[in-house]
Amino acid sequence: MWQKNDTKGLRKGGLFFFMALALACTLLAFCKPDHNTGDKQDTLTASLAATAPPADTAAVQPAPPQDTFYTIVGVGDMMLGTNYPNTGYLPANDGKDLLADVREILKNADVTFGNLEGTLFDSGGTPKSCRDMSKCYVFRTPAKYVQNYVDAGFDLVSIANNHSGDFGPEGRKQTKANLKEAGILYAGLAGTDEYAVFEKDGVKYGLCAFAPNSGTCDIRNLANAKRIVEKLAGLSDIVIVSFHGGAEGSNAQHVPKRTETFVGENRGDVHAFAHAVIDAGADIVFGHGPHVTRAMELYKDRFIIYSMGNFCTYGRFSLSGPAGYAPIISLKIKPDGQFAEGQITPIYQQKTHGPKIDSQKRAIKTLQELTKADFPNSGLVISGEGKVERE
Ligand SMILES: [Zn+2]
Repeated sequence: MWQKNDTKGLRKGGLFFFMALALACTLLAFCKPDHNTGDKQDTLTASLAATAPPADTAAVQPAPPQDTFYTIVGVGDMMLGTNYPNTGYLPANDGKDLLADVREILKNADVTFGNLEGTLFDSGGTPKSCRDMSKCYVFRTPAKYVQNYVDAGFDLVSIANNHSGDFGPEGRKQTKANLKEAGILYAGLAGTDEYAVFEKDGVKYGLCAFAPNSGTCDIRNLANAKRIVEKLAGLSDIVIVSFHGGAEGSNAQHVPKRTETFVGENRGDVHAFAHAVIDAGADIVFGHGPHVTRAMELYKDRFIIYSMGNFCTYGRFSLSGPAGYAPIISLKIKPDGQFAEGQITPIYQQKTHGPKIDSQKRAIKTLQELTKADFPNSGLVISGEGKVERE
């Protein structure tokens, strides 16, 4: 996961900057190497340390060059098949083909995020009891499938959703262990896993995740959400907030800007939540949960998408109508967290396969329409090809 195909300006720009800095330090022999740096910079500062004497003054973190961008990819719900209630719900070839058509897009980023809608382990745990077994959907994806996420470049996943607790505490424990072993960071459980920090090329990316479900960080408790985000903002350069909230389905494509209930459950006020976490220091808000795509907007120059829909949900999800297509969101973010530009890749799914590029571009059209309707002052312009720019 560290060998990402990063073609953006960060590395080149960062490298050039630090080479210039190293030269300046050597010549002037007064500045102290900064230890809060990535691999390449560590190499440079290590060679610098041999020639530059230690300084008395405190190290000052150099500001990244103006043309530096961090690239972040986000997708919605992911569930690559379940061995419960039986292995008939597993895809062919251990799911290795599900992400094949979009793998390069997912990997082409500094950080790649998705919502892990289920558990990730082989056997055991206590399946969530259901009143009606015909409508009981609980997901247990075999542990080895984690490699499919690794191969697609995922660094961070949310485990705050209505399926991470499908197999009780044992399921959560084993899922976390399998993610950890694979090198994928996770966040979203109240008290134990409220946030994660991922460092790459000297940049710290923080993730926290929220949902209305038992055991998760509660999307409805804005004061606590702000507390978590404020803390994370103090530990990270770029703060990514994930939420799984709002009503579901084709009648729930609009953001109502009030508390939503669905099947008798309070699913939060996602609009108030997104603004609250940005007020507390979030830089990107990735929403999901409605199983359909929802609008996006800029708030305080920070990017919000209210739902990224069903991204890769094999076998047990309805994919009819707007639930069958979704966006991959690729963002360029400035070092201070402000949105620079984005790209929507439209995908669609059918029962028999994972995400494929949608030549009808339905997710782009939907995002254009919904964003115009729900956020006429979104601050964003979306082209027919899916380019997202500031207005
Ligand atoms: Zn869900």
